[in-house]
Amino acid sequence: MNYVGTRGFAGDKTFAGALLDGLAPDGGLYVPAEWPTPGFDLSGDYGTLTQNLLTLFGVDVLGADAVKAAAERTRAAFLRDGEVPLTQLADNLWMLELWHGPTLAFKDMAMQMMAPLTDAALKQRNETLTLVTATSGDTGAAAVRAFAGSERVRLVVFHPLGRVSPVQRLQMTTVQADNVLNVGVEGDFDDCQAIVKALLGDQSLKQNGLISSVNSINWGRLLGQVPYYLAAAAASGADKPDFVVPTGNFGDAFAGWVARRIGGNVGKLHAAVNQNDALNQAINEGRYIRRQAVESASVSMDVQAPSNFERLVYEASGRNAATTKALFDTFNATGAVTLSPELQAALKAEVTASTVNEAQTAEAIAHAYKAYGQVICPHTAVSLSAALERGLDHPQIVLSTAHAAKFPDFVTKALGFAPKVPDAIQALYGQPEKITELKNDRVAALDLVKGFAAA
Ligand SMILES: *Cc1c(COP(=O)(O)O)cnc(C)c1O
Repeated sequence: MNYVGTRGFAGDKTFAGALLDGLAPDGGLYVPAEWPTPGFDLSGDYGTLTQNLLTLFGVDVLGADAVKAAAERTRAAFLRDGEVPLTQLADNLWMLELWHGPTLAFKDMAMQMMAPLTDAALKQRNETLTLVTATSGDTGAAAVRAFAGSERVRLVVFHPLGRVSPVQRLQMTTVQADNVLNVGVEGDFDDCQAIVKALLGDQSLKQNGLISSVNSINWGRLLGQVPYYLAAAAASGADKPDFVVPTGNFGDAFAGWVARRIGGNVGKLHAAVNQNDALNQAINEGRYIRRQAVESASVSMDVQAPSNFERLVYEASGRNAATTKALFDTFNATGAVTLSPELQAALKAEVTASTVNEAQTAEAIAHAYKAYGQVICPHTAVSLSAALERGLDHPQIVLSTAHAAKFPDFVTKALGFAPKVPDAIQALYGQPEKITELKNDRVAALDLVKGFAAA
């Protein structure tokens, strides 16, 4: 299985090449050159299922040991007491908890898989890699925990100093591994992103070896999220359950699309977004418009230009790279595109969407406790609210993407009491922290990363 780009790149990239590149050479995103025909073997436990899936998508170019190691790590992050973490809430309604990994949020699933695969790909080429990433919290924590101790990767994470939650900070800074550098920038998240963008474009850094990012456009991250759709659908016992996905960059929802595309027992996919609803407007109104993101309770979904939307457009347009390129070129240049009626209808046939506001998010948190005895996080509440709005006449599985204790302020307000703090979080307090403080200055950031990459 080889990989092509959504904007016309048609070279023969293997999985390893797509993983290390991140972005395709055409400026688009990597997708499989063709989809495997349905008939995929769904039997076996989660580890076996994941291994088979990885092999199906050409990950075996990295060797059977790498496939096995990646499947094992993602299995360990997924299971709850050795079982698929699916809870039935009501008739036709289930919740899948994706936060039993090291940072108690679903990004662990992708990162735990990506780390051993990246190491294996670098080993094959006898290369090392510097990964740089900006984070508002969850992504950085999951990356630090996954890549700590990695043999060939040095990871630099930029977070806005004093502006991530204490739990998110501790999950990053209490890791003592030599190959991880946590940088607190005197600025906001956008400043961190601007620094990372500058670093990725810097020629002098490229001369020192490979440099890349762990953002959600990477195909390797996406693949780690496909197996749980298959496992959850099987565990529910339902025929083609719909999945309601709390959506930011649309990586998780697109993984669900992949699960269905390869013949999984998956019904409709529904993307639930917060007040940052560019995706909902594109699908339901045919206008894709970039606006300034505003802060919501479901902060990891505060995204106004969802990166993986491009993969959906490519597929919905019948894998038309010219259409895809034209659409995203216009969007990048002007910040707004009107979709053709045909494309909009095709998108809607693949994925439905709805918006959940802040008040509805709080209501869903209260309802989940009252009706089902569940304490849920704001992201999960967005998907639950959307699922209840759709109605319970068809089986639905709601994805739960983080532990409520990661977002104590909003949850406490909605519930009237504080969510119980799990041992994994409690244990972080009082541990020594490793953090480098940095002025909001690109030159200083470049010096810092160069020194770290060479060390
Ligand atoms: C990242 C994140 C999401 C959104 O996932 P996407 O793949 O970006 O759509 C939802 N919930 C939580 C807790 C997250 O960290």
